[in-house]
Amino acid sequence: MAEHLYQLDSYIRAFEAVVTAVNGPLVALDRTAFYPGGGGQPADLGTLRWDGGETQVIKVERQGADVWHILDAEPPPPGTPVSGALDWERRYQLMRTHTALHVLCGVVWRDYGALVTGGNMEPLKGRMDFEFETMHKELVSEIEASVNAEIAEGHAVRAAILPREQAFQIPDLIRTKINLLPPQIQEVRTVEIVGLDLQADGGTHVANTREVGRVRVVDYKSKGAINKRIYIELEPEA
Ligand SMILES: [Zn+2]
Repeated sequence: MAEHLYQLDSYIRAFEAVVTAVNGPLVALDRTAFYPGGGGQPADLGTLRWDGGETQVIKVERQGADVWHILDAEPPPPGTPVSGALDWERRYQLMRTHTALHVLCGVVWRDYGALVTGGNMEPLKGRMDFEFETMHKELVSEIEASVNAEIAEGHAVRAAILPREQAFQIPDLIRTKINLLPPQIQEVRTVEIVGLDLQADGGTHVANTREVGRVRVVDYKSKGAINKRIYIELEPEA
């Protein structure tokens, strides 16, 4: 099984690997830092280079335990050593955005007891749906202020991989619907914003909330009687 470097160190932006399988324009590696997407975070983009060749990674997909890199040119054969490099500017913006959404999630749960029902992001922009009965301008400004206060606190952000049984004993994880995980999944990756939020999550995050920078709540919307959607944006620089 390939080593998923992004799971424990989201700051790896370049790496060496060996091609393990090829299928048309798809290539699998023995290790990769390319995030295949999931949990609302889009997959990484970047480049793959080898002796005599270089091409763009235009898409990354996870199928079971395998990560497939979709290349813009014919992949080199299995056994070829390659160097991978992420489009780091984009990935780092996604890390900041993903952590911002978890801060939002943590604040809304702590202060209002509202559960998250979904979310999505692109670099420097994201949205999240909550089970909130009412949403109004004052409430939104209050949430925005609390989110920025928590970001400025400089909470550490940590990823861990726990055995399923141990993860299921953490009460905080229940609200992220961890109990919906299929039984064959024996390990659960968690992302903790220390002192604020703990979730089962596969994404890549910054190491400290200060790296997120200022967050603005730019819009909110009703998506039915219970679901309310909050839109956020980040500054280009933290
Ligand atoms: Zn997440």
